[in-house]
Amino acid sequence: MSTTVEKHPFQAEVNEVLSIVVNSLYSHREVFLRELISNASDAIDHLNLDALSSPTLLGEDKELRIELIPDRAAGTLLIRDNGRGMTREALIANLGTIARSGTKKLMQSLSAEQKKDVAMIGQFGVGFYSAFLVADTVTVTSRAAGSDTAWVWQSQARGDFEVRPGERASRGTDIVLQLKEDAKEYLDEWSLREVVRKYSDYVRWPIRMQVERGEGEAKKTEWDTINEGSALWMRAKSEVTHDQYVEFYKQTSHDWTEPMAWTHFKVEGTHELAGILFLPTKAPMDIGDRKKGGVRLFVKRVFIMDDAQEILPEWLRFVRGVVDSEDLPLNVSREILQKDATTRFIKKQVVQKTLNLLEELAKEGEAEVEVDGVKQMKNRYLDFWREFGRVLKEGVYHDAASREQLARLLRYESSAGKSLTGLQDYVSRMQPDQKAIYYITADSLTTAQASPHIEALKKSNYEVLFMSDPIDEWLVDVLRQFEGKDLCSASKGDLDLPESEQEKLNKEEQQKDLGPILSRIHKVLDQQVKEVRVTDRLTDSPACLVTDRDGMSTSMERRLREAGHAVPEQKRILELNPKHAVVQRLRSIADLDDVKFQHWASLLHDQALLAEGVLPADPAGFARRIADLMAGA
Ligand code: ADP
Repeated sequence: MSTTVEKHPFQAEVNEVLSIVVNSLYSHREVFLRELISNASDAIDHLNLDALSSPTLLGEDKELRIELIPDRAAGTLLIRDNGRGMTREALIANLGTIARSGTKKLMQSLSAEQKKDVAMIGQFGVGFYSAFLVADTVTVTSRAAGSDTAWVWQSQARGDFEVRPGERASRGTDIVLQLKEDAKEYLDEWSLREVVRKYSDYVRWPIRMQVERGEGEAKKTEWDTINEGSALWMRAKSEVTHDQYVEFYKQTSHDWTEPMAWTHFKVEGTHELAGILFLPTKAPMDIGDRKKGGVRLFVKRVFIMDDAQEILPEWLRFVRGVVDSEDLPLNVSREILQKDATTRFIKKQVVQKTLNLLEELAKEGEAEVEVDGVKQMKNRYLDFWREFGRVLKEGVYHDAASREQLARLLRYESSAGKSLTGLQDYVSRMQPDQKAIYYITADSLTTAQASPHIEALKKSNYEVLFMSDPIDEWLVDVLRQFEGKDLCSASKGDLDLPESEQEKLNKEEQQKDLGPILSRIHKVLDQQVKEVRVTDRLTDSPACLVTDRDGMSTSMERRLREAGHAVPEQKRILELNPKHAVVQRLRSIADLDDVKFQHWASLLHDQALLAEGVLPADPAGFARRIADLMAGA
């Protein structure tokens, strides 16, 4: 066997992570142990799973465990596991690059200034590299299960690491930390006990520590198991503390921020399962990626896979946690999961438990909650909504079975006030004569708020929901109703505003009266609009463009086109405000000058587009007509 030492540079992002970690005065640096024990436990989980199909993998070394060996004389702490181990290639790939896209993206998005900020490291898990919070030199000796060679990985976090052949009696991984001068407390038995109890008590595999007992001649070393070791999700809720849930979340999710809330459940009956589902506080960088996410799947306490997406719909991809089934076969694969009827049952349960948790949070409103040991007033649901509302909305579109429950969880800005409102609250505020729930879709909140389409609604004290998220268009399209009330777009068809007999008469009168002018305008705009009519929708603006009740909204049309769909040109209806001075003046112009009339008609149309945030088809022509008009005035 060669004894050559190879040097490898770290990937650039690893160097950035390391430079933060190495220089960090991070106050919770004991988390390094949580991270390393978690990796060890994962390695054993994976081996245990593989051994189900090939029992010979275990060999003589059957007692799966994690060991801590502090060596005071040498100033080192050894963390050992007899899990699946790593090959030379795995060592180089796993401990030289960052696999997690979230961390990598976050790293790339940080400014040079932010990279100096030690508080940043708490925002993203740095896994293995957190060893350098307490160690100058880290030496990993690993032997992969089924292989007869061991490899050593060593680094001082100065841009590169070394790899060389090594010795290890059996499979597994040894991590030796040469502790920094100011980190010698992690050689102390009681400090280690405390850290393990705090962060890793629930780890299912025994964590044994080598301790010294007796004095002088009678001095001897023995092994002491220092964790409770039962799966947290199998314990009764009353036996699990707030901090244990928080630590469990941090360990299983790679997120160092406290979770916002969780639900711990057991389902009994024809199918049995238990689990804990967490809502994170912050959305990860890759939340837009529909193929990401998932929870950890266990079968009868045996770890099966990370990120089981089969038991979680895409629109709940932010949920983290574990699900443990009594019914799935131990050799379950992704392919089996995709077809198995039990999977559908589990998925349904996971959806239900999560939606119930969300409903509870929504009901809670503003309340006192504890975050990082500090009590504070928070509206957790609105915080959740701002981070993940967009993803949840996908559920309304995709999941007909959950649609009704999800509709109650939607939140929008509205003309009623500054804060977000739900549909139930909207309905409770409806005017006695109001029949529908009104909304306006636009590219931004400001455009929605200023839309001419909602002028009359606001005047009648009808609340309007502002929808500025592209998915909202799809959402209202499938939702259509809430609690028996139609969802009605302020920019479509007739608004059904209450009108007295007199008002109705007036409108007919005006339509008749302006008739010749309306048809002249239509002639000018024949290519752009399909009808010109008077409206009572407007109070302050002279004109707006509306769609038929079942027509596609313009923003939807635009989005579809941007997405590459061939959407046929849809003509809309130009509605005029008969009371507006501009419309009044059209009468006098109509008799004078044809060119001027054409300009006015075009301007009316183009400014209606502008009010929706849409550029007229011929912006230069629009500008010229405005200039002419100004010069004339
Ligand atoms: P993460 O655990 O989030 O993937 P880490 O940086 O902590 O990131 O570890 C990177 C990878 O190195 C792990 O995913 C795993 O494949 C491997 N690894 C780390 N520690 C061990 C270990 N004790 N045994 C086997 N593999 C390990």
